[in-house]
Amino acid sequence: MAEKTNGYIDTRAAMESPLSFTQAIIKGLAPGGGLLVPERIPKLSLDEIISLSELPYHARAARIFSAFETNLSDDEIAKLMEIVYADNFDDERITPIVEVEPGKHVMELWHGPTSAFKDMALQCLPVFFSKAIEVERENGNCSEDFLILVATSGDTGKAALEGFKDRAHTKIMVFYPHGGVSDIQFKQMATQAGGNVFVLGGLGDFDDCQTSVKGTFNDVEFNERLAREHNVKLSSANSINWGRLLPQIVYYISAYSQLVADGALKAGELLDICVPTGNFGNILAAWYAKAIGTPVGKLICASNENRVLTDFIQSGIYDISERELILTPSPSMDILVSSNLERQLFELTGRDSSKVRQWMSDLSTKKRFEVDDETRSKMQENYLCGYATNAEALTTIREVYERDGYLLDPHTAVAWNVVEKAGPERPVLIASTAHWAKFGYDVYRTLNGIEAGAELPSEVLELTGVQLNELISEQTGGKSIPANLAMLDSLELRFTGTCEASIAGVEGAVATWLG
Ligand SMILES: *Cc1c(COP(=O)(O)O)cnc(C)c1O
Repeated sequence: MAEKTNGYIDTRAAMESPLSFTQAIIKGLAPGGGLLVPERIPKLSLDEIISLSELPYHARAARIFSAFETNLSDDEIAKLMEIVYADNFDDERITPIVEVEPGKHVMELWHGPTSAFKDMALQCLPVFFSKAIEVERENGNCSEDFLILVATSGDTGKAALEGFKDRAHTKIMVFYPHGGVSDIQFKQMATQAGGNVFVLGGLGDFDDCQTSVKGTFNDVEFNERLAREHNVKLSSANSINWGRLLPQIVYYISAYSQLVADGALKAGELLDICVPTGNFGNILAAWYAKAIGTPVGKLICASNENRVLTDFIQSGIYDISERELILTPSPSMDILVSSNLERQLFELTGRDSSKVRQWMSDLSTKKRFEVDDETRSKMQENYLCGYATNAEALTTIREVYERDGYLLDPHTAVAWNVVEKAGPERPVLIASTAHWAKFGYDVYRTLNGIEAGAELPSEVLELTGVQLNELISEQTGGKSIPANLAMLDSLELRFTGTCEASIAGVEGAVATWLG
C-alpha cells in the first residue's frame, strides 16, 4: 500500500515543515504551543458514508482513518482498529444509538471498559502511540520509552490507565486528589490492573496535582536525569493530541450511516448534533465529521453553569478575566479554557495562523480575546448554543426518566436540556458522555427529590458507591449497572499510597517507581 505523503501542520505556524502522523502522535503539541491539524481534510461522498453501516465498527473506523494522512498502510490501520474496538466494549455496536423520544437519538459513548466517554479516545490513542514509537524507532528518530504522567480530577485518569495498560514502550502514572474523588472513581483507579501502571493520591486538591505534574514536565534537569538514568521521556497524552480527536470523528460519521440504515433518516437529510461540551474536543470532532461530508445541520454546543462557550458563540468574546470556575454536577464540563477551540478558530478563519496567534496571546495575557465579525458569523452559522443550570440538569434527569424510562447522567442531561430549549427543527443526535452509575449521588438526589448540592440522608452517605448504584437500580425497576462498576467492591485495592502534591512529591514518586 502506498504511503500518503502529506502531514500535520500547526495552528500557530511555528513549524517549518509538516509532521508525519506518527510524529504528530508522539509530540502531541507543536513547538510554540499550537495544535496539530491535518494539512488536508479528506472528503467522503454520501454513498461512501452511507455504506459504512454495512461494516462492523472497527472497519468503519479503519475506512475513515485511512482517508486521513497517515504514514501507516491501510492494512496496518485495519489491524490496529481490530485491537481498539473489540470485546473491551460491552456492546458490539460500540456506540449504540437509542431513540429516547421521536427524533431525539441518544448516542451512548460509554460502553468502553471504564464506562466513560473518555474511553472512546483513550482506547485508541495508546494503540496509535505504541505503534508510533515503533515506527519512529525504525526511522531512527526515537530510542526512549515513554512515561505518561496524568493529573486527574477523576474520570480521565482511569480511562488513561485502562488505555495504556500493558501497551508496549509505555508506562503510566496517575495522580488524583486524595479524598477529592468519588468512592467509585477511587476504587476504579486503586484496583487498576496492568504491569506498567502506578496510581497515587496527591495530598492536595486537583489544582495542586495538576500544577505539580506540569512543573515536573517543565523541570529540564529532572527530564534530563530520566533520559540519562532510565531512557525515559515524559508525555501527557492529553486531550489536545490529534490521536484523541481522530477516533471521535468516527462515531459521528458512523452514527449518520447507522441512522440512515435504521430508517430514522433519509439519505442526505440533515442531522443536528448536540454535545455536552468542556474542552471542545468532542464537538469539534462532530464539526470535522461535517467537514468530511456528513450531512450535519447545526452543531449544538451545550454548557453547564460554566457558560463561557455559550457567551463566546453569542458575542464573539471569550472572556475569563472575571469568571470563577463553578463546581457543578457535571464535573467533566467544569472548564474555563476550552483548548480545542483553537483548532476550530483556525479552520473557520480559513487557517489564518496570525489571527489565531493573536487571540491565543490575548487569552494568555489579558484572559480575553475577541474575534472579528466574520469569524463570529462563521461560528454562528455552524453552532447553536445554550447552557443548563445545575437545577435544570438534575430536573431533566428525573423528567426524562419519568416520561421515557431512560436514565441520563448529569452531563448528558445538560445536552438534553439545551436541546429542549433550542427546539430543534430536525432530528438530533445527542452525545451521551457518561453512564449514570458514574454519578450515582446526583442521580439519587434528583430521583428522590433532593436538590442539587443538598446534603444526602446519612443512610445513603454510609453506602459505598457500588451499593448506592444498587439502590438506584432497585428504585428504577432494575436499571443495569456496567460490570466494571458493579464489581468494584470485590476487587483488591492495589494502589492506596499518597504523596505530597508538589513537584518534589511527583518527581520523588516517579524516581522511586522507575527504581
Ligand atoms: C470529557 C467529558 C466531557 C467534555 O468533553 P470535551 O471533549 O472536553 O468537550 C463531557 N462529558 C463527560 C462525561 C466527559 O468525561
